[in-house]
Amino acid sequence: MFTQDQPRLRNWINGQFVDVVASGSDQSVKTIPVTSPYNARVIGHVPLSTAADVADAVAAAQAAFPAWSSRTIKDRAAILIKFHSLLTKHVDQLADMVVLEHGKNKAEAIASVLKGQETVEYALSLPQVVQGKMLEVSRGITCYDTRVPLGVIASVVPFNFPVMVPMWTLPIAIAMGNTMVLKPSEKVPFTMTKIVELLKEAGLPDGVVNLVHGTADAVNALIDHEDVKAVTFVGTSHIAEMVSQRCHRLNKRVLALGGAKNHMISAPDRNIEMTSTDVVNSYSGCSGQRCMAATVLLTIGHQQELVDKIVAKSEALRPGSKAGEVGPVIDQASVDKITRYINEAESSGARILVDGRPWTKNQSEGFWVGPTVILHTNKQDAALHDEIFGPVLSILAVDTAEEALAIENSNPYGNAACIYTSSGATADHFIKRFSAGMCGVNIGVAVPREPFSFGGWNKSRFGNHCDITGDGGVEFFSMRRKVTTKWVPQENASWMS
Ligand code: NAD
Repeated sequence: MFTQDQPRLRNWINGQFVDVVASGSDQSVKTIPVTSPYNARVIGHVPLSTAADVADAVAAAQAAFPAWSSRTIKDRAAILIKFHSLLTKHVDQLADMVVLEHGKNKAEAIASVLKGQETVEYALSLPQVVQGKMLEVSRGITCYDTRVPLGVIASVVPFNFPVMVPMWTLPIAIAMGNTMVLKPSEKVPFTMTKIVELLKEAGLPDGVVNLVHGTADAVNALIDHEDVKAVTFVGTSHIAEMVSQRCHRLNKRVLALGGAKNHMISAPDRNIEMTSTDVVNSYSGCSGQRCMAATVLLTIGHQQELVDKIVAKSEALRPGSKAGEVGPVIDQASVDKITRYINEAESSGARILVDGRPWTKNQSEGFWVGPTVILHTNKQDAALHDEIFGPVLSILAVDTAEEALAIENSNPYGNAACIYTSSGATADHFIKRFSAGMCGVNIGVAVPREPFSFGGWNKSRFGNHCDITGDGGVEFFSMRRKVTTKWVPQENASWMS
């Protein structure tokens, strides 16, 4: 049943690949197929880990914790330095895996691995940046603080960045002395299996990082396991909220990042050439499957010349896997969802200026929807409000800055927002009023960059309100311990004189 071309994946526990345990009345291992978005062919089968598999992984992480956490942070960072150079050596291979299982074009795949590597850079610099405070708070009394690792961390990740999103948590979590069980997305389970091998090659002790494959059952078993001390989740808002609530009921530390509907506002004084290029990159890059993709463009006044350029640049995009080409979306369910939003907008009177629907049929195989530009007149269109997660741009002309801000502010998400303008004062006005955690000025995808943390607002983030990566990650992955000391002078210490 499982061939070399279609292998069944295995969990990575205690430094080796292990089969998922057979379960159920038929004592079988349940699997789901993994397909390549480029041609819809099955490239493997991902096993659905049960609570027993999760318990094995957590036990390995728990067993590794005492020795790992008692090493110095410099010692732990030294392993990440080796890991960083192994990532550099294997970037091409990792990018090819991302292309195969996810469907990004090769340039996007390389960029995504390099972005993940940037968090490794931050983590290996932690010995230089995590020293605590120390102060003589009263005469003879000194306080200092230290950071203590939490224990076993569970990290649950989405499909859209098979390497980069796991790297938002893994390097900082382990540099701070924690151990980890990571659950890759069942849609893109391959690339992380190479990453764990590279971690082992770098010298990471067995059990510090473990992988379990699966879906909701594996996630719930991780959350519920008493030895899992904190949970990070990245995915859709609906599930992020559920994960967050489940953790709260257990009084567990949780950071759950959700979906997005990001807005770009074009002021009348924007640079048309730059804005049109940036808007097209933002909505169509990675086939629109980015939580930072901006997919609503609000023009203040009718901006025909800008819209014409966006249309021309969108029409020039071609399907494929080379730099500048637009890859497929993840699966048929995604194709169906995206086309449904386009159809509904059209039915409600919107004009489809660029239509990506023909790509679904023109491409002989795979999951394709082409770049699509919708000019709305009805503010209620669902495409203007919901996360579509495909290469679809919704344009709406508004009369005033206040109207644009009211639309952006009323959206339930709050991940990102961008203002296009040539004026610093205009940029400042919008940045102060956006209801979003990550804002851009003339930048439609204000991507995560170390050493800055990132995390959305509103329904784009649930949990204990730490950010991810950067110092937000350090805060999340450690507990502070404050120590107050008073040393009484020893009157009879004759040996001192
Ligand atoms: P998803 O929510 O379907 O899946 C995310 C993870 O949750 C996967 O590992 C999946 O196996 C697991 N999961 C699925 N059902 C579950 C359940 N019932 N209970 C617990 N876990 C469950 O998300 P996706 O489709 O893989 O990823 C796309 C989404 O992720 C988009 O909404 C995107 O905006 C979001 N995202 C957000 C950020 C951010 O920084 N805010 C970054 C990347 C992606």
